[in-house]
Amino acid sequence: NEKPIATPKRTAEILHKYGFSFKKSLGQNFIIDTNILQKIIHSAGIHKTSGVIEVGPGIGALTQQLAIAADKVVAYEIDQRLLPILKDTLQAVSNTTIIQQDILEADVRAMMNDYFNTGQPVHVVANLPYYITTPILMKLLREKLPVASFTVMIQKEVAERMAAEPNCKQYGSLTIAVQYYTDAEVVMNVPRNVFMPPPNVDSSVLKLTKKTERPVEIDDEEYFFTLVQACFAQRRKTLRNNLLRHFGDAVDKDTISSVLNEIDIDPARRGESLNMTEFAVLANAFYRKFE
Ligand code: SAM
Repeated sequence: NEKPIATPKRTAEILHKYGFSFKKSLGQNFIIDTNILQKIIHSAGIHKTSGVIEVGPGIGALTQQLAIAADKVVAYEIDQRLLPILKDTLQAVSNTTIIQQDILEADVRAMMNDYFNTGQPVHVVANLPYYITTPILMKLLREKLPVASFTVMIQKEVAERMAAEPNCKQYGSLTIAVQYYTDAEVVMNVPRNVFMPPPNVDSSVLKLTKKTERPVEIDDEEYFFTLVQACFAQRRKTLRNNLLRHFGDAVDKDTISSVLNEIDIDPARRGESLNMTEFAVLANAFYRKFE
């Protein structure tokens, strides 16, 4: 029974059979277009040897196609009403495991040890619940899991911020947080009518590919992320003024300028003009001087 789940007709049948009603609060917008799913799986680079982690399988539309394309799929679903449905819709694919858990609470590293082979390439592929897009991605990135890439459907606006380049208005601390770990690329924009029900925002598929090495080693990652946030606190202000505000009474204006000048960063620049390497050098310089 490998009829695609992701068609309007089949999805409506499944929902009707189980009397399922969408929970808006859980970001439940299911995909009803198999073509879009194929494009997602293709851009994720999934092969017969791949392991896949999915977040939020819903009624299994993407899970089903992933199971066909990959070696193994492990999917986290928070809504227990979906478990009997998934058991039914995914009965024909045996290489799939559903874990009923909030992804934000999950020990993904331990799961990976249990389910995937050492050295097996593992990818995250998901149509994420939009109310927690950023917490989910930041959790998975910060944990430094052995995951090769993340291909996710998210809000277009968030995708653009994550994949932004310096000197544009989408570029900010979220960009740096994501691009510290990965190379980010918007793969495609997706129309609202491929979802049931259609979401209230536009969507894009974002691909994050794990960086194999860092441009600059960072002394203290927490310090780095805090300082980056400070540099974007008031976007119209110069680096010097944002840093002055951040350090409060602890550091004066001339000292801030001299630290910046030492690393060849003009104190009159704005945070949005600094690239990743410059932020890294900046954070290390202040860290070494003041921590
Ligand atoms: N993958 C399906 C598809 O593409 O049709 C459904 C995607 S839907 C946008 C998001 C799914 O994430 C829903 O099934 C929802 O119940 C689930 N979800 C929401 N919050 C979650 C959480 N904290 N942990 C795991 N799953 C969650």
